[in-house]
Amino acid sequence: MENFDFYNPVNILFGKGKIAEINKHISKGAKILMTYGGGSIKKNGVYDQVVNALKGYEIIEFGGIEPNPHFETLMKAVEIVKSEKIDFLLAVGGGSVLDGTKFIAAATYFEGDAWDILAKRAPIAKAVELGAVLTLAATGSEMNNGGVVTKAATKEKKAFGNTLLFPKFSVLDPETTYSLPKRQVTNGIVDAYVHVMEQYLTYPVNSPVQDRFAEGILLTLLEEGPKALASDTPDYENRANLMWAATMALNGLIGMGVKSDWATHMIGHELTAFHGIDHAVTLAIVLPGLLTQLKEKRSEKLLQYAERVWNITEGSDEEKKTLAIDKTEAFFNQVGIKTRLSEHNVGQDSIDVIANRFEERGFVGMLPDVEVKDVAEILEARL
Ligand code: NAP
Ligand code: FE
Repeated sequence: MENFDFYNPVNILFGKGKIAEINKHISKGAKILMTYGGGSIKKNGVYDQVVNALKGYEIIEFGGIEPNPHFETLMKAVEIVKSEKIDFLLAVGGGSVLDGTKFIAAATYFEGDAWDILAKRAPIAKAVELGAVLTLAATGSEMNNGGVVTKAATKEKKAFGNTLLFPKFSVLDPETTYSLPKRQVTNGIVDAYVHVMEQYLTYPVNSPVQDRFAEGILLTLLEEGPKALASDTPDYENRANLMWAATMALNGLIGMGVKSDWATHMIGHELTAFHGIDHAVTLAIVLPGLLTQLKEKRSEKLLQYAERVWNITEGSDEEKKTLAIDKTEAFFNQVGIKTRLSEHNVGQDSIDVIANRFEERGFVGMLPDVEVKDVAEILEARL
């Protein structure tokens, strides 16, 4: 196992009715900026629950944070935080609202061009305190310290992170996810699945605890995901298990002491930045291509995945690995995702532009076995 520091201070308030308790976790007299997205929280009653829980606090609202939150929008919120002397940020929504709010928290005290937090990974010395009410189980943003922000003007989607950006608390009430359209339920299942794969399907280090945690999350998503999509009436236990699976997939735990990759996310971000394809959909497109490319280099872990997650025990090693990759893609298709670039009107010209971006950047993920020159090949195999 590799050395690691594990730190995760997020207070998770899990379950039905837990939104009512947020006032126990925000200092009395704090002036709050409540951030949200395009209005889903006003239709499903989450907004009312939050406002009721915060009676007695002064609240200013900032709605309109878009999916794949825009730097340009978030900087407007930063102005409000400064001019209104906001003490606490409360993000109410999915990963985009949570990520966007983390960025607002960091940018408020940042001296200079706040885009440097993303473009140059400029250090953050201070951040506004924040909390979250999650309404979409997917990203893990509720229990991690990272985020992803897009500059609309230049179509650049970039990640940032800092220990100051862990939410102080996050409410995970599975009932808030009942109003999700199926497309977003699917996106959540697939994003969480690929978060696990980024940390699990790498090189073997001796990490049986992390591996079995990862396999447990994958198996839970494989079992609970299709159940959630098969029924028009949400089931509490099903949504609760999906929600916790997504949080566990990216709260740091399974990534400790192992070699994480994130190449699928890095390539996927470019597809979203240029083509507006949903985050999870980009991952479902890229992952089968990446794993195929890494069949030899990550052979041992792919065989473990084939056997333990897909119960593939017969055939040659080559056949087992191929079948595991095929079954992974078939699962993405089963939950309703089109996994070919051509199905999203993306062609060779775009692949060239994306490959070029990686040439300029000089690296793909965090592991050296996915090289810049591989990006075009991975994407071409997905046409
Ligand atoms: P999202 O972009 O936050 O939300 C997608 C859509 O779902 C929005 O239109 C939103 O509507 C709607 N929605 C959310 N909750 C709903 C509910 N309960 N009922 C009905 N509609 C609801 O989706 P996401 O998948 O959670 O976040 C994606 C973003 O997170 C991407 O930018 C991705 O790159 C990033 N990400 C972050 C991390 C991380 O670790 N921080 C990891 C992976 C991905 P409203 O706007 O109206 O609310
Ligand atoms: Fe993701």
